[in-house]
Amino acid sequence: MNIPFPQQNKQVQNILNELESFKINDMPWKSGKIFAYVYDAGEEAQELMRKAFGMYLSENALDPTVFPSLLKLETDIIGMATNLVNGDEKTVGNFTTGGTESIMLALKTARDFNRINKPSIKNPEVILPHTAHASFQKACHFLNIKPVITTVDKTTFLAIPEEIEKSINENTILMVASAPSYAHGVIDPIPEIGKIALKNNLLFHVDACVGGMYLPFLKKLGYDIPNFDFSVEGVTSLSMDFHKFGYAAKGASAILYKNSELRKHQLFVNSNWAGYTMINTTVLSTKSGGSMAACWATLNYLGTEGYLKNTRITMEATKKMIEGIKKIRGLEILGNPQMNLFAIASDELSVFRLSDLMREKGWFLQPQLSSSSSKENIHFSVNPSNTPHIEQLLLDLQETVDFMYQNPEEVDIKSILEILQNPQPDTLDKVAQILGLSNGAVPEKMETINALLNVLPVSVREYFLTEFMNQMYT
Ligand SMILES: *Cc1c(COP(=O)(O)O)cnc(C)c1O
Repeated sequence: MNIPFPQQNKQVQNILNELESFKINDMPWKSGKIFAYVYDAGEEAQELMRKAFGMYLSENALDPTVFPSLLKLETDIIGMATNLVNGDEKTVGNFTTGGTESIMLALKTARDFNRINKPSIKNPEVILPHTAHASFQKACHFLNIKPVITTVDKTTFLAIPEEIEKSINENTILMVASAPSYAHGVIDPIPEIGKIALKNNLLFHVDACVGGMYLPFLKKLGYDIPNFDFSVEGVTSLSMDFHKFGYAAKGASAILYKNSELRKHQLFVNSNWAGYTMINTTVLSTKSGGSMAACWATLNYLGTEGYLKNTRITMEATKKMIEGIKKIRGLEILGNPQMNLFAIASDELSVFRLSDLMREKGWFLQPQLSSSSSKENIHFSVNPSNTPHIEQLLLDLQETVDFMYQNPEEVDIKSILEILQNPQPDTLDKVAQILGLSNGAVPEKMETINALLNVLPVSVREYFLTEFMNQMYT
């Protein structure tokens, strides 16, 4: 696409009005009826973050010797994170832009640590339970590491230590477990996996991206949470996101390591080009200090007291939701969720239709496709802003489920599958048209698309999603 470049200056107010107007079709996340994407600690916290972000907007974290303020913010944040996840004086880490970057760095560090310490490894492998976040497979893709995926328990959705141990070979550079997994909110048996790591002299990463800013507070509230962090022997690195249940502005996560000997392999240094000496601790080079300042501000604004309160109210709301949903005919909770994340499924009703019908009532529920470890389901992440709306949610769910039993309806994906059986040059266009996806439009009804994706083999799913996304950004 080629659009005319603006000729004249525009007034500040007009620009801001225009920016505001673009949001018209966005999900109204302040409604408290959305169970994904936005982690919000309330208007005062938002206002503070806007100011803090603005204060450090233009400072550049490329070079901490030029902006010692950013070094101070980063070491403060990492120190506080270390405290929450039971690190010690030797624990080190860095502030990153998100879980994906933290995980990418953990894998890069493991790969380069092993290049030095186990030079016989030519084709590095990482062992991933199938419930490990997709960003691990993305990191493998970027770093040319082979993901070795292990099956998880079909009812608890927990990683199986024996399966992990069986997958260890001379190319293994790292083992991974989640605390908890995003999909089902269950915490892998980390102490057991830690023992395997020690026994086999392997690095072990705990993905606490979504749990790192929640489980420590849940523990303080007296909930029975198994050890999942640096208190477990064998854990060598851990990722935790501040932009999830730390409620910080997006672009805020941490990667922590047991010691600096290991972290050293994360750094990239280059003094062999025509320009300035480049020393990068993370993936990005030039980066705003804004998200660091907003994160630092939020941690200090909420403090232990604020996080305990948010943890308490969201956990109480979660328990209420789970109890209520269990009483609704046809719906079930997958596994035994241990924090404010869970997934619901049904053997009788289409969860995709349920999600669409609930959307008509103003709720946004996140569908998850079936996979080799789980049937299709709907994911909930419960935020403080959701807590006043739980009774209404349960009423609307009950009403929608009743409606679905009274008005059964099957989506017709057969005709699409038939077209797909015999691919022609125009197959994709035809299918896109049936699905309402032409010209990259975002369809209102997702049921047909989800139902179709749900039955397609993974490679066909991914082919479609790539084509669709590739068209959307034009
Ligand atoms: C969100 C999440 C990630 C990825 O984090 P991003 O910030 O979206 O890049 C990784 N692991 C888990 C468990 C998560 O919940």
